[in-house]
Amino acid sequence: MKRRLLMSAKPKVAFYWCASCGGCEEAVVDLAEDILGVVEAVDIVLWPVAMDFKKRDVEAMADKSIVAALVNGALRTSEQEEMAHLLRRKSQYLIAYGACAHLGGIPSLANQFPREQILKYVYEDGPAIVNEQKTRPQLEFKENGWHVHLPEFRNVVRSLDQVVDVDYYIPGCPPTPQITKAAIGALLQGKLPAKGAVLAPDIALCDECPRKASKPTDLSFTEFKRPHQKVLDPEKCFLAQGIVCLGPATRSGCEAACTKGNMPCSGCFGPTSRVKDQGAKILSSLSANVAPKEEAEIVKVLDGIPDPVGTFYRYGLAKSLLRRKGA
Ligand code: SF4
Ligand code: SF4
Repeated sequence: MKRRLLMSAKPKVAFYWCASCGGCEEAVVDLAEDILGVVEAVDIVLWPVAMDFKKRDVEAMADKSIVAALVNGALRTSEQEEMAHLLRRKSQYLIAYGACAHLGGIPSLANQFPREQILKYVYEDGPAIVNEQKTRPQLEFKENGWHVHLPEFRNVVRSLDQVVDVDYYIPGCPPTPQITKAAIGALLQGKLPAKGAVLAPDIALCDECPRKASKPTDLSFTEFKRPHQKVLDPEKCFLAQGIVCLGPATRSGCEAACTKGNMPCSGCFGPTSRVKDQGAKILSSLSANVAPKEEAEIVKVLDGIPDPVGTFYRYGLAKSLLRRKGA
């Protein structure tokens, strides 16, 4: 799809982070010397981790005057929602950058617990907490003439598109320099696919995995082991070694970074367009291939996966069929 970009001399680009670990910011820096080409080609108008622009600078800009805003991180607070709405209004393209903005990411594993349980643990019960007064952050605080506001901590973690309309997704935890570069190139050249596309190949990771020749056609699991519980064969398909690998349910594009490093895929690129629920897809495929037929024996095999939600929905609980409702 070609769309005329409303731009001055250089297209304006914004980077913003919400509930994220900072890895996606590192991924932009990982462009190495290519970042000089990006800086040369665009005007960066917001990048809190690296540059001192303020929210009011963005508010003063005309609507749609930013060509693209790349937002990483999931959305948990009222401030993140406000920034998402602001950047949506000011940008021609709003791009969810990285697994957390795309699917909720690791922060959305918190959706397994109610907000009150999280706050109680963090401010009262955690092993390193000394808080006899049971003090919690207040939304408003006044002292010595200062009136301070804190953002509200919402009840659920959401992906960017569960809050505002998103044009494109760049997957990964974090996205690789290659797909970041390809996406920025496509954007600057006006060679973007149809709105809503994930800017990575729409095929399963197994297709680009160097271990694919050893992937069994007939799986039969007698046990599951975690990677640290076994000496791993550096060439054999992980599933053939009884190690959970999310490659069959995960989009390719990372050049099989983890399997090349002798670790199974944990699914950070999210599902292909044909998979409705990444976790359910791999879960049903693995459990259908458990060798024992007796319940007690099946349970023993499945006990080798001690944290099913963290294993199968590590990056996508917010967007899964298991998601929680409510803000
Ligand atoms: S190791 Fe994982 S990604 Fe590679 S072929 Fe096997 S299942 Fe697929
Ligand atoms: S192998 Fe899987 S977890 Fe690792 S980078 Fe690729 S998609 Fe992400």
